[in-house]
Amino acid sequence: MHKIDIDLVEMTMDVMKYAINRISETNPKIGKPLKEEDLKALVGETITTEGIGGEVAFNLWKDHLMKANVSIDHPRHLAFVPASPTRAAIMFDLVTSASSIHGAYWMEGAGGIFCENEAMRWIVSLTGLPDGAFGVFTSGGTAANLSAIVTAREYWRSLNNQNKFEKGIIITSVGSHSSIKAMAKVADIDVLLVDIEDRLEATILKESIDLLPETQRKRVFAVVATAGTTNAGIVDDLKGISEICKKEHLWFHVDAAYGGGALVADSVRHLFNGIEKADSITIDPHKWMFSPYDCGAIIYKNPELAKNAHSQEGSYLDIFKDEGAHGFNPSDYQIQLTRRVRGLPLWFSLATHGTNRYKIAVERGIELAKLAGEMINEMPHVELVREPSLSCVLYRRIGWKPKDYTHWTYENHTKGVALVTPTKWKTGDNFETVSRFCFINPDTTEDDIRLILNSMN
Ligand SMILES: *Cc1c(COP(=O)(O)O)cnc(C)c1O
Repeated sequence: MHKIDIDLVEMTMDVMKYAINRISETNPKIGKPLKEEDLKALVGETITTEGIGGEVAFNLWKDHLMKANVSIDHPRHLAFVPASPTRAAIMFDLVTSASSIHGAYWMEGAGGIFCENEAMRWIVSLTGLPDGAFGVFTSGGTAANLSAIVTAREYWRSLNNQNKFEKGIIITSVGSHSSIKAMAKVADIDVLLVDIEDRLEATILKESIDLLPETQRKRVFAVVATAGTTNAGIVDDLKGISEICKKEHLWFHVDAAYGGGALVADSVRHLFNGIEKADSITIDPHKWMFSPYDCGAIIYKNPELAKNAHSQEGSYLDIFKDEGAHGFNPSDYQIQLTRRVRGLPLWFSLATHGTNRYKIAVERGIELAKLAGEMINEMPHVELVREPSLSCVLYRRIGWKPKDYTHWTYENHTKGVALVTPTKWKTGDNFETVSRFCFINPDTTEDDIRLILNSMN
């Protein structure tokens, strides 16, 4: 099969042509899903004993399957946290695949890991963490959060024997990302949720801790703050929370999966003050650092603690720890063994463009959120739910019920105009369905925003 692949030279050209076209596409179709049975009816059987041939399969992809995906980099895809990988990064994602690198251990992937580490050093420098802090690239924020939570828990258990028999507790707020609760489940850890979606203030955290009975208090080992909530872009009181963590001897994890990119933006950097006191920080380069999927990052103040928690043992792995194979082994610091050098596309893009271009591109997202806020203030049929924060804007269409938002979302998506989805925001005791923008793509224009807002009229 593999030698025969040499016959695929022509196919290779077709694939490269397709990739070049897609990479240089400035106005991609937004794309929308079809039902599985409809896709099946369009493409028929594709996995057969003899194979259907590359040309046929590729045409099925181009004609039908590709169109059933939403292009995350469409300038009017403002739902969830969109993405907008640079062309340089996407090109180097192809190079990463073509280079066949195992990114777990220095012995096998030194060149690739070297590049990843160069990019990581820049990210760490944005956080202001002390010397010695370092991180690794993960598959995303979820894996980064899990790696951090497990590191914190193992450290806590190493502190005294009794902790080894306790089920740990982490404290976070309602505003934190779903992955915190999901990963706590994976690690068999209880979560104490402070009932606030707005900024988590130190005083509220302190009250929640003080209210705990001693049997629970002694099980608490970490606080997870969010620097840029996914729903509303809110940055918790990192400085105040860090002080409480210090006093209470709790691990301080900052989930900046979405917001971390904004560390480079001078206009909002002050919101992150206190992040330099974190024990661990999650940042997703595949969100606001313009990397292709999938690329998350976990950074530790003391990477040795992560190594204690995650380094895998096995006779077949001993050679990697030998003097002769010395070097940085990314697999020691997070949950994954075999890994793609997924920080490599980011490295190439940073090297190509320089970090100032990143600053400008992130500032543009923040500016777009402000501009959207101003437009919403001017238009009579919509109003802001809260002031824009980072690049998130929550707003309501006056008079609309939840089903109106849903209907409008589907209608715009079906027409290929935009993907903007509803969310909820709690006012008092009431969960209100509202509309939400999240800006990442610096190529989104004011006209794009106006077009979307006008379509609600
Ligand atoms: C997106 C996000 C995550 C999850 O990251 P994935 O890369 O999707 O796994 C975690 N935390 C926050 C704050 C996020 O915005």
